[in-house]
Amino acid sequence: MTMPTGLKLVLFGPPGAGKGTQAQLLKERLGVEHVSSGDLFRHHLSNGTELGELARGYMNRGALVPDAITIGMVIDRIGQIADADGFMLDGFPRNTGQAQALESALHERGQQIDRVIHIRVADDELIRRLSNRYICRVCQRPYTRDAATGAPPEGCADCPDGGDIYQRDDDTSEAVANRIAVYHQETAPVLDFYAARGLLANVPGEGAVATVNESVLRALEGNADEVFP
Ligand code: AMP
Repeated sequence: MTMPTGLKLVLFGPPGAGKGTQAQLLKERLGVEHVSSGDLFRHHLSNGTELGELARGYMNRGALVPDAITIGMVIDRIGQIADADGFMLDGFPRNTGQAQALESALHERGQQIDRVIHIRVADDELIRRLSNRYICRVCQRPYTRDAATGAPPEGCADCPDGGDIYQRDDDTSEAVANRIAVYHQETAPVLDFYAARGLLANVPGEGAVATVNESVLRALEGNADEVFP
């Protein structure tokens, strides 16, 4: 299937829906830049920047970092991407104020979002996934515990030095419950914002990674409202 170039996408869904995993696959397939607000924050945290210190407390308890910090950080990053390259946002926008700010910033550049892919996963499955999730500190690739032994992988398969694998501070059960509650209260209303603009495609996110990826590609290709009502 042939995909247009320079696509501007939002990968939307609750924490643990698989946005990061699908983003890695889509990046290879579409050649667009992956912009993850969570990764940008974690980068600031590990570099000890002022922005990282401002964000740390919110992140550790699973709350949203205030818009005054978040919006500028993401809009600046998008501004570094050439129009022809396109991008895929992951974890942003997370409330309607962010969605409006994004729309205005893109409008000023004569750009707009082409499609919002909403990956749907039930809450009990999200909790199961997040409590088993591990991340490579170097490239941020997500991993799960080994099904048989319960052990996390020893190193990252993608990183030459076998990047350090760790569990995020906000994947503790208390922070996970808070992040899912915040998703329902503050982030889910963004779905109506994009549905009203005819941009929303809902994709079932509970199957195997490859199956979800096929659904995402179908949703990008055609009228996803008809494919996945
Ligand atoms: P994520 O990796 O997307 O799960 O994000 C990790 C944490 O970073 C979130 O729980 C928030 O504390 C913060 N964060 C990431 N993206 C945003 C955003 N768009 N708005 C506010 N906070 C965010």
